[in-house]
Amino acid sequence: MAEKQKVVVVGAGPVGSLAALYAAQRGDDVEIYELRDDLRDPSTTPLNFTRSINLALSERGINAMRHSGQPKLLDHVMAATIPMRGRMIHGKRPNGQIFEQAQDYDAHGRAILAVDRGGLNKRLLDILEGMPNVTFYFNHKLTGADFRKCKAWFEIQGKESSTGRAREIEIDFDLMIGADGAHSAVRYHMMKFTRMDYHQEYIDTLWCEFQIKRKEDAPENEPMARFRISPNHLHIWPGKEFMFIAIPSDDGSFTCTLFAPSEVFERLEINPDQIPSFFDHHFPGVTALIQPYELITSFHQNPHLPLISIKCKPYHYGSSAVVLGDAAHAMVPFYGQGMNAGLEDVRILFGILDKHSLIGGRDDDDEESRSAVVRSSQREAALAEYTAVRAPDAHAINDLALQNYVEMRSEVLSPMYRLRKFLEES
Ligand code: FAD
Repeated sequence: MAEKQKVVVVGAGPVGSLAALYAAQRGDDVEIYELRDDLRDPSTTPLNFTRSINLALSERGINAMRHSGQPKLLDHVMAATIPMRGRMIHGKRPNGQIFEQAQDYDAHGRAILAVDRGGLNKRLLDILEGMPNVTFYFNHKLTGADFRKCKAWFEIQGKESSTGRAREIEIDFDLMIGADGAHSAVRYHMMKFTRMDYHQEYIDTLWCEFQIKRKEDAPENEPMARFRISPNHLHIWPGKEFMFIAIPSDDGSFTCTLFAPSEVFERLEINPDQIPSFFDHHFPGVTALIQPYELITSFHQNPHLPLISIKCKPYHYGSSAVVLGDAAHAMVPFYGQGMNAGLEDVRILFGILDKHSLIGGRDDDDEESRSAVVRSSQREAALAEYTAVRAPDAHAINDLALQNYVEMRSEVLSPMYRLRKFLEES
């Protein structure tokens, strides 16, 4: 039997959790280190969000879960999704009349799915918890890594030593998978070992979360009646320089997001009383769905967060480290592909590792060929192939995401756009 490898995953977000599942399915010893507390603990607030947000799940992400080797994962995740067959554009005609215009995503009726990010993440953690070769380390923050010696250091959050300093542990690993998000510590430490090209860009747009509540007086036996607007669309109020969107949740509410330049946020922070009139002017109909005082409260209470776009290359160092998901290619959310592309990273990475026969006990080869040294050089070749295959695609999705902001906030309203769409579909 080939010796088991120790795969350390940093970050238990959706991408890290799926990567851990793929590694565990292949029989390796998997340790997951996560900065925050267990997401399944109700007192844990999801990073950057006031509560769990809804995301658009599409074929990239679905396919990655389909190949996880856990059929129940996809069944469970899909059961809690809502199909969105297109955009619903909200606007006002020159005569003041408010209108809605549906624009289907696909001539054949295929849809993308609204999914609760936290729900998906929790399902992955539940499955991992039941696997004997997986160990969780919550409240562990990666603080250092030596990818030549395959050693890493983690600070245990909330635990201080007798000197008053945070307690630190040292671990070793065969492969570290960095899925620790846009501000990845794995990527930061990897840069000291490899000549990594790195580009980051903050766009001049902030985002803030709002909520359209469900109708409480809807009849029990009519679940669709709980939704105040169509549940099967991604709603967009394009405002040219900014936009407001709403994505359905299966409890009948909608998670909404305001995207606007920082200068607009500053103006509204100084004059919060103007928030309802700002919405009436730019996003007609929203104040009928969210009470003006709720708009002001949400704007005041919820964080105003930046949007970052990151490209880097290579994604790996030698045979010992690789970054996936936002850690490798954080992107602005306008193409709805950040998490989907991160989940796809996992499928592609493990496909390449499998091809090189590297992960897990698939060891019909003779014992010698799987010695530690050989395995390490095979893994190095596999990780190099992963970077070569994945970087151009990830960079392209990143660019498309930036371009799609212009389309969503402005072009969807233009006659040219409608003409182009019409010609594409006819
Ligand atoms: P994360 O979700 O950021 O998880 C990283 C994890 O690593 C976290 O749990 C963090 O606590 C942990 N961590 C961080 N540092 C350390 C450390 N030093 N040590 C240990 N652990 C650490 N994507 C879509 O596909 N569709 C959408 O519709 C969509 N909409 C979006 C809307 C908004 C407003 C935003 C902001 C993003 C959206 N995204 C969307 C993008 C999506 O949220 C991300 O791409 C996805 O969450 C990335 O997952 P991840 O697991 O790579 O990283």
